[in-house]
Amino acid sequence: MRDIHIVDSTEELAAEAVKHLQALLRCETVNPPGNESTAIEYIRSQFEAEGIEYRVLEVAPGRVNIWARIRGNGTKRPLLLLSHVDVVPVEREHWSVDPFGGTIHNGYIYGRGAVDTKSLTAKELTLFLHAARQAKAGEMTLSRDLIFLAVADEEQGGTYGMGWIVKNAPELIDVEYALNEGGGFAVEVGGKRIYVCSTAEKGSALIKLRATGDPGHGSVPHQRNAISCLANAVRRVSLAPLPLHVTATARALIATLAQTQKQPQQSLLPLVLKPLLSESLLGTLDTYIADALRAMLHNTASPTLLQAGYASNVIPGEATATLDGRLLPGQTPEMFVAELRRRIADPNVAVEVEGVTFNGHECEQDTELFTAIRDALAMHDPEALVSPYLLPAMTDSRFLVPRGIIAYGFDPMMPEPGWPSPQQMAHGHDERISVANVAFGLRVLQRVITQISA
Ligand SMILES: [Zn+2]
Repeated sequence: MRDIHIVDSTEELAAEAVKHLQALLRCETVNPPGNESTAIEYIRSQFEAEGIEYRVLEVAPGRVNIWARIRGNGTKRPLLLLSHVDVVPVEREHWSVDPFGGTIHNGYIYGRGAVDTKSLTAKELTLFLHAARQAKAGEMTLSRDLIFLAVADEEQGGTYGMGWIVKNAPELIDVEYALNEGGGFAVEVGGKRIYVCSTAEKGSALIKLRATGDPGHGSVPHQRNAISCLANAVRRVSLAPLPLHVTATARALIATLAQTQKQPQQSLLPLVLKPLLSESLLGTLDTYIADALRAMLHNTASPTLLQAGYASNVIPGEATATLDGRLLPGQTPEMFVAELRRRIADPNVAVEVEGVTFNGHECEQDTELFTAIRDALAMHDPEALVSPYLLPAMTDSRFLVPRGIIAYGFDPMMPEPGWPSPQQMAHGHDERISVANVAFGLRVLQRVITQISA
């Protein structure tokens, strides 16, 4: 058994990944409506040319997923390389280049999806093709099957993508581990870089607050005005965080953050996990770090829509607000609603769950995959720290974890001066990633895949 040739093939592989990324960016896969078929056809042609086992899953016209496999010797259960090829819409007037041109300018590859997540697709595709070539040439034996899966519809709920696959073709994702989007970027704190690997994700529940009162003439104010009731309820929800819940992921991240601090902050930081001290500690941190940590420690409810009234001189009998609710792993929509009811404490304001809800999830951190991620970063960015991370949003990993799969969000990207954070770039104007960063991510992922498939 020989190792993948990391050093001599790096530049060639990076050039290949950039070529794939440009080709994928030129496929206009804006969702809605999706039209992922063009990107999937590009990937299919690569598999076809290299004689790789693949399956195209067309769920609806234009809504297509592609799965491929390289067989290992079966010593270990498979590893899934997952990404999505649909992208969010663009406001063209805010772009300095064609968002679907795949152009390179000043070392950056521009296009909708450059960060979320066609660059991950391109890197995974490159490494998958490379592994297939090596396996064919007898240069490498894999201990486990490598599965490549690029899906449709991640940005709109996964009905035509991962949601369809778990229902209709679960045998394709019978894997031990999955590498997906959702983490892998670095945050700079206390002069140190921390690469975060998303081991947990929050769930979601849309909440409707419905205040009822006495209708009446606007000229005679009274205390049973539905709008005033609703305004009070919204204020109570927003004034202070809901109860604090500590997850293993948040505990691990705080411990890593503490390592970047000098005394006494180093000893004080873990106190953010204590309900009575948390807020005063967070008050000493940069606002953006405090907001991010708060979202990892609490169920949250952001007011996003308001509806009330139909005439300026009529007090309406009802007023409603929609809250974008996010649930920590281990929390159910019922527990969340109970927290909101206790906080609002007004019998005239009903708290209801609207539409479909998703529970959050949390994966084990002490795994062979996490070790491989730590080792790979130790090799390619030795100064940096690595930490588990709780993504406050959801990815397609939510379909995998309930099946017992360890799914991590890990798309490695290094911070670059003058480049906004990957979180800002995803869904942003002039979305772009540097050629150097594609090469970096490729090297790190290659090391990870090699280590856990050797
Ligand atoms: Zn995405």
